Amino acid sequence: MTENQTQSCPIDGTIVAMDPQYNHQKYESNIYKLWEESGAFTPKVIEGKKPFTIIMPPPNANDPLHIGHARFVAIEDVLIRYHRMKGEPTLWLPGSDHAGIETQYVFEKKLRETGQSRFDFDRDTLYKKIWEYVQENTGVMESQLKKLGASCDWTRFKFTLDPEIINIIYKTFRKLHEDGLLYRGNRLVNYCTHCGTAYSNLEVVYTERKDPLYYMEYGPFTLATTRPETKFGDTAVAVNPKDKRYKKYVGQVITVKGLIGDFKVKVIEDSAVDPDFGTGVVKITPAHDFNDFEMGQRHNLEIKQVIDLDGKLNALTGKYAGLYVNQARKVVAEDLEKEGLMVKVDNEYIHSVGTCYRCKNTIEPMLLEQWFLKVKPMVDKSIDAMKKGKVTFAAKKFEKIAKNWYQNLKDWNISRQIVWGMRIPAWKCDKCGEWTITDGITPNKCNKCGNENLVQDTDTFDTWFSSGQWPFATLQTTNPGDFEYFYPTSVMETAYDILPFWVIRMIMFGVYVTDDVPFRDVLIHGLVRDKEGQKISKSKGNVIDPIEMAEKYGADALRMGLVWGALTENDVCLSEENINAQRKFCNKLWNAARFVSQFSDESKLNKSFDKHITDIVEKTTRYLEEFKLNQAAELLYSEFWHWFCDECIENSKKGEIGTKQLKDGLIQFLKLLHPFMPFVTEQIWNEMGEKELLITSPWPKN
Ligand SMILES: [Zn+2]
Ligand SMILES: [Zn+2]
Repeated sequence: MTENQTQSCPIDGTIVAMDPQYNHQKYESNIYKLWEESGAFTPKVIEGKKPFTIIMPPPNANDPLHIGHARFVAIEDVLIRYHRMKGEPTLWLPGSDHAGIETQYVFEKKLRETGQSRFDFDRDTLYKKIWEYVQENTGVMESQLKKLGASCDWTRFKFTLDPEIINIIYKTFRKLHEDGLLYRGNRLVNYCTHCGTAYSNLEVVYTERKDPLYYMEYGPFTLATTRPETKFGDTAVAVNPKDKRYKKYVGQVITVKGLIGDFKVKVIEDSAVDPDFGTGVVKITPAHDFNDFEMGQRHNLEIKQVIDLDGKLNALTGKYAGLYVNQARKVVAEDLEKEGLMVKVDNEYIHSVGTCYRCKNTIEPMLLEQWFLKVKPMVDKSIDAMKKGKVTFAAKKFEKIAKNWYQNLKDWNISRQIVWGMRIPAWKCDKCGEWTITDGITPNKCNKCGNENLVQDTDTFDTWFSSGQWPFATLQTTNPGDFEYFYPTSVMETAYDILPFWVIRMIMFGVYVTDDVPFRDVLIHGLVRDKEGQKISKSKGNVIDPIEMAEKYGADALRMGLVWGALTENDVCLSEENINAQRKFCNKLWNAARFVSQFSDESKLNKSFDKHITDIVEKTTRYLEEFKLNQAAELLYSEFWHWFCDECIENSKKGEIGTKQLKDGLIQFLKLLHPFMPFVTEQIWNEMGEKELLITSPWPKN
């Protein structure tokens, strides 16, 4: 074949002039436009026909896509395109996430660069500023999804802060309140004094750390603690009931010499005390330690808060007031030494410390009034739905993990002290102190006493409280009838790391609000790693930018690289070499098509050829049904390259396979490969003179 060949098409006489090489840059954006304008992305409700639906995990509105997003695009788009070709009304609903804490955190970092902080602004101004900041980046993520070939329905696009979405979330909040599942709890929360907000248990990252363990004299005892600075908040000492050493003290009130004067505490016994820790005696600070708080509840202990939300010791600590916790610890330890109260210090003590998942500072257990959600009834219903098989996990290991998370879920603190999010629709009466909850409308009087002076809670909902409702909140606010038709959705495909934050919450809210699961199948994908199997991170310098890769090698090559080599549930290793190898495969397809399109005879010579094609169709279909995307991709790649090109094309030159037959075979390959490599297959299809689009052509039958 010569370069720039021009000849008439054997089928309809049109001029065929395929470029000698496939140049993705020339075609991709045009093809995307063709698809979008054809209406292929926007399904029609066809009663009696089963739809296929995926709600896209909404990427952060203000962030460009990273390689992990590209993996979900590759996976979900394969499923979507496959089901669309099967003739099912197929909906892939895209959206973007306001990502409360993440976004406010990034914004505050920017503020700091200009010497400002969030405390320089009132609530509304700050919200407006963050809104504007997010608007600056609007459209970036959407255009990147298009670049990757995501065939989602842009007419149904949703943002998590769309007013109609907020409405749904508020309604749920009100329903929870009416059902008695909400309470205002003065409870210890995981508080980051740096971020200025409380976090849920799931957001605390535990790390091993070496800290001094101080042994101090404490009345008649010696006891060990890593936190001498909380001594001012102690309201008991405790021993294990089985510990014979201290039996005689139990129930007594002892006098303890302190740095700001002597104080009295009661000696209690509680089986939560580990007799092997330190001396077996522990001081109890209910306001600043989770275990102590629980012990305090059991024994009715006084709760004495000595650290404030800014992370500093407060007035109850006398001369130590105003010191940050870390400073205070050192000073208090020194003073204990001076006073002769320090017995010894173990500098080799290793323990597990809760840290903030955003800023990595130590989490301070803090007493704060927050909204708590009683999760038990929702959890029970969710586990029940899983047991009944209403929702199944493609990889069983994740089902186990999900159940485990459910079993360990505590009441959920849904209040966040940030402005970027949905403000909680609860108003406190300044007379009787009761809360009036609405579904968003400002109440004009207190529900309890009728007083008209009400103040709205300044907190916002935890992001996961709203995104947990995403599947039904989106479908209930798109076109009328969408929810009834497309819900429950077919597949929830998302990353492993948000299984506990998101997936299990979506099931909880689904069964609670809609009385049905939000999706039938859960497909969890693993990480994208570099070619050495290392986690991808900025600090390692091994970041693979999906958009750069798509521009260099084509979106198809990137997509193939992302489903290649590992089951969806596992981590996948990606390198530029892999992607380049897939680009070569695009060219292989292109060149085969150039060759095949030259011929026009009608003969069908080879029965085993057709049989083999049928076999490939059957296997590919089965793999896709079983979510084994890599197996389908690898099969198609090797069959096309080694069987179709190396054998069949060569045999056709010897007259063993009819060229019409060869062409029919190619058409089948284009269809089977389309979900994986949508652009190149669509372009070849077009070059071969097909009038309709490949994206909506029927999936081959086996
Ligand atoms: Zn933090
Ligand atoms: Zn009132």
